[in-house]
Amino acid sequence: MKSPIPLWEHPSVPVDGSDARFPVRHVYCVGRNYAEHAAEMGGDATKEPPFFFAKAADAILPVAAAEVGTMPYPPATENLHHEVELVVAIGRGGANFTSEHALALVYGYAVGLDMTRRDLQKVAKDARRPWDTAKSFACAAPIGAIRTVEAGGHARRGAITLDVNGVRRQVGDLRDMIWDVAHTLAFLSRYCELLPGDLVYTGTPAGVAAVVPGDYLDARIEGLPPLTVGIVEERR
Ligand code: MN
Repeated sequence: MKSPIPLWEHPSVPVDGSDARFPVRHVYCVGRNYAEHAAEMGGDATKEPPFFFAKAADAILPVAAAEVGTMPYPPATENLHHEVELVVAIGRGGANFTSEHALALVYGYAVGLDMTRRDLQKVAKDARRPWDTAKSFACAAPIGAIRTVEAGGHARRGAITLDVNGVRRQVGDLRDMIWDVAHTLAFLSRYCELLPGDLVYTGTPAGVAAVVPGDYLDARIEGLPPLTVGIVEERR
């Protein structure tokens, strides 16, 4: 392709146990998917279908299993929150499919962080504005290496935790998701055709809180490569 501007590298995520990388097309996120977190955000999500928002593909911060990612503290916030989440990597496309068909589309799973400028999100919620500036910015979506379904099967249960500086902040179990992966993907496929390369962040358990430069985040889901990230001062 002849391009009038310099082409950039495709955003991609390391695949565990391989030198391959998973190219990222879209990043979708579920708003509320654990009852205790929905309650701490002032809602009751238990009986409602999931709702979705998006981050730009180049908002990912890919971190290999043996590495520590570096996240610059973003501008325009004084309340940057962590949300540890199971991330689904889509390997095959499909639209408007059922939950019975959904897992056939999954390439693998990873640990992710849906980093959120909570103060901007509150302004947006109060003014009934979109969440984009609160959710999509440089390094807003740290993600660990992908464990393929072939290597480890589907992620249906297991502890999901986040420690900050060695202190436990978030804890849950994948079994506590209001909508499991299959149902979440089926709902999402009503709105858009899922395509190979898509990532879906599936919501966070309770315990979201702020981080500051100097903090060290250790995110884990049983059976998946861990994700570790250090927050550093914003580059100026
Ligand atoms: Mn989230």
